[in-house]
Amino acid sequence: MTAQHTASRYSAQTALLGEYADSLLGVFGSPSLVLTHGKGAVVTDADGRDYLDLLAGIAVNALGHAHPRWVEIVSRQLATLGHVSNFFTSPQQIALAGKLLSLAGAPAGSHVFFANSGTEANEAAFKLARRHGHEHPGPDGRPRGTVLALESAFHGRTMGALALTAKEAYRAPFEPLPGGVRHIPATVEALEEHLDGTVAALIVEPVQGEAGVRELPEGYLRAARELTRRHGALLVVDEVQTGMGRTGRWFASSAELTGDDLPDAITLAKGLGGGFPIGAMLTVGPEVSALLGAGQHGTTFGGNPPATAAGLATVTVIEEDGLLEHARTVGAVLGEGLRAVPGIGDVRQHGLLIGADLEVPEGATAPFGPAVVEAARDAGFIVNATGPGTLRLAPPLILTSEQARTFLDALPEILRTAAAAVTAPAATSPDSPPKEA
Ligand SMILES: *Cc1c(COP(=O)(O)O)cnc(C)c1O
Repeated sequence: MTAQHTASRYSAQTALLGEYADSLLGVFGSPSLVLTHGKGAVVTDADGRDYLDLLAGIAVNALGHAHPRWVEIVSRQLATLGHVSNFFTSPQQIALAGKLLSLAGAPAGSHVFFANSGTEANEAAFKLARRHGHEHPGPDGRPRGTVLALESAFHGRTMGALALTAKEAYRAPFEPLPGGVRHIPATVEALEEHLDGTVAALIVEPVQGEAGVRELPEGYLRAARELTRRHGALLVVDEVQTGMGRTGRWFASSAELTGDDLPDAITLAKGLGGGFPIGAMLTVGPEVSALLGAGQHGTTFGGNPPATAAGLATVTVIEEDGLLEHARTVGAVLGEGLRAVPGIGDVRQHGLLIGADLEVPEGATAPFGPAVVEAARDAGFIVNATGPGTLRLAPPLILTSEQARTFLDALPEILRTAAAAVTAPAATSPDSPPKEA
């Protein structure tokens, strides 16, 4: 009776997941849920079960799901003018570009290139770096051929962005990758050692999201700005995950870089469209903006009317509803709450981008992070593990403190269930590997 009940209860999802495996390429492993709808910070699966979404499509759904004003603006745009190609522009595209530059405090002569994803925004930045290397040779007269990136960096999965990404398991199967990239430790000493007249650019995430919400050393970005300037290299900041209010500021890098010390380029994506695919590269100042001229880069879809309308809708709601401050407030509730939960180690909280280390139970025979993700899911919460010992939360910026507390209240039991699962004699490994973007 019970088994039958269970079988029928999960049959809608089980059937769909079987069909998924028959037709979708296996690069994401097996998805854990089939989701059919969402409202606010809650999503619902094909069997009608609700989950509090503390991941927001990996820092994407800034306004949660089906936000009424976002839906209204994007729907109206779709019903008015959809795609037009970059032979043409639209009022939305121009308005969003202007808005992003003003949010960044970018000086006159700064510009925006719209793409469709984070990896594409970083491809544009890579090409910008190459152009800079050609246009501004080093002291020896030779083009600057080196781009510096950090150990543990994640910049995307296309070949150029992958060359900037550090993780060996992502890189090795696809070599040879575009050359000239050197990965260095995230220390000011390493910057001093490696920055010289052969370097075209340094690319950094202000907080390393995929690495487990890892912080740069205090003052690192200021030092990077100073040293790249001294050696004639560009400073590119990848705010694909940290930008658009995620950390309680429009740009996480503005904690250290403001006024005359902005980066030379900033890349954005994830939260920018509130769920609509869009990426962007901001080029700061006229000299940097002039590095990519007519015909030197392009995209068919980038910055089309629905995508830029979605970006405008997202920015508008964040501003009107005071979601930057809200993200700081609710983020602090989560951060402090997590620190008080036994079994949670170091907590790194930046607005609503949070990494929490897990104390892995002794004798664990399976990765603990994925087991916690699974136990949380069974308890009605969507969270993410960036590795065997680290949880990542990146909930919608509209999450309420009450919703945050329901998770904190449930977490001790979730950790106990997960610990039992990985230490039980017949512990089976969790049904899906940890997901990364
Ligand atoms: C997610 C992410 C990317 C890649 O974005 P996609 O939209 O998945 O291509 C690049 N950089 C950072 C810092 C990211 O978090």
